[in-house]
Amino acid sequence: MLGTLTRYLRFMGYDTTSANGLVEGDPKEDAILLEIAKQEHRLLLTKDAELARRGNTGALLIRSDDVMDQVQQLIDLHRVKRRLTMSRCSLCNTELREANTCEIADAAYAPKDWRNHTFFWCRQCQKLYWNGSHGKQLEERVERGLRE
Ligand SMILES: [Zn+2]
Repeated sequence: MLGTLTRYLRFMGYDTTSANGLVEGDPKEDAILLEIAKQEHRLLLTKDAELARRGNTGALLIRSDDVMDQVQQLIDLHRVKRRLTMSRCSLCNTELREANTCEIADAAYAPKDWRNHTFFWCRQCQKLYWNGSHGKQLEERVERGLRE
């Protein structure tokens, strides 16, 4: 339900997992979700008012359907800071490390002007990231809170 927000939070460097695969609105699955969040010391973000109520202080009801409003809600509540980091893979949440020259050279999609970039690598996805790799527009949206 909050897949886009999940990716944005990872762009912002936050350790974010997603409950994809669990059935929405199923009380048994809701209980599992709350238990996982509690055990992993995670704040549960949801658009389901009933689930948010059951989660009490461990859950947060996300009000808007617009991802920039969702990010703004978390900023207003002092849960996140508006920033963009290259510390996590936006696809799988794995922590990135600096890429080595072989990894950069093997990625056909990498920019050719190496000196102007810092490169990072996701071991899990075998994917190369660099400042600008998410696209200038997206980076500006996250950093300045721009709407589409
Ligand atoms: Zn990854």
